[in-house]
Amino acid sequence: MMFTAFLGIGSNLGDKPGHIRAGLQKIAEKAGRLKNVSAVYETEPWGVSGQDTYYNLVAEIETPLFPLQLLHALQQTEHECGRERKERWGSRTLDIDLLFFEDYHFSMDDLTVPHPRLAERNFVLYPMAEIAPGLVHPAYGLTLSRLKEISPDTGWIKPLNLPADADTACS
Ligand code: ATP
Ligand code: CA
Ligand code: CA
Repeated sequence: MMFTAFLGIGSNLGDKPGHIRAGLQKIAEKAGRLKNVSAVYETEPWGVSGQDTYYNLVAEIETPLFPLQLLHALQQTEHECGRERKERWGSRTLDIDLLFFEDYHFSMDDLTVPHPRLAERNFVLYPMAEIAPGLVHPAYGLTLSRLKEISPDTGWIKPLNLPADADTACS
């Protein structure tokens, strides 16, 4: 049994393109086949001030893992890429959020799907509207292209021209 999931990936510390490339490589190893990857966007830090800019992208994967297993695989990848948890929304080498899992809509202690804040974030809505404009948010009943149009986020975001190749590894 294979499931389709969308992941949101971000980095704003150290070698941002390197962390992103390494994260994608590890996701492919631990979580499932990469079906579609958006451009990388440079974005204004969300919810905080005084941090370096973020590099953000989203990826669609095909995974054999159930949601909590997938979350754990993503957290292991963050850890291997040097993620340290300090203050909320603090700077990080790599953050991987589970945005969508099939059309599931649920909340438990460690996991809420779809990700509860995604519709308020240009750094998720822009890359999602790029690779899955017609995907319908299971709680709101709106497509990603519509959610992008009505985004309340005023932060700036711009696509970057980053080579998607290279073979960086975190550890
Ligand atoms: P935000 O969740 O607002 O993007 P963050 O990514 O900085 O903030 P983290 O410190 O990475 O937050 O994660 C905090 C907790 O969120 C994790 O321990 C995880 O259990 C929980 N969590 C709940 N739902 C999700 C989800 N859909 N994807 C990833 N983590 C989630
Ligand atoms: Ca996050
Ligand atoms: Ca996270």
